[in-house]
Amino acid sequence: MLKKQKGKCNQCGHYFMPEDLIEVDHIIPRSQGGSDKYDNLQLLHRHCHDVKTAQDSNGINNNDRER
Ligand SMILES: [Zn+2]
Repeated sequence: MLKKQKGKCNQCGHYFMPEDLIEVDHIIPRSQGGSDKYDNLQLLHRHCHDVKTAQDSNGINNNDRER
């Protein structure tokens, strides 16, 4: 996975450093029907993962309000 992303975080676009905490993220959250397949996984910094998770859940809330 690191090779696919060229050693960069998909959220902030910065390179992973040896001291960074790296987490595996579901590009499409499993709560939104995302799969556990390789295609739907990416590596993010731990803090970037937190940001994305917050954005993902905000999106769900926004959609609910629009309906
Ligand atoms: Zn990052």
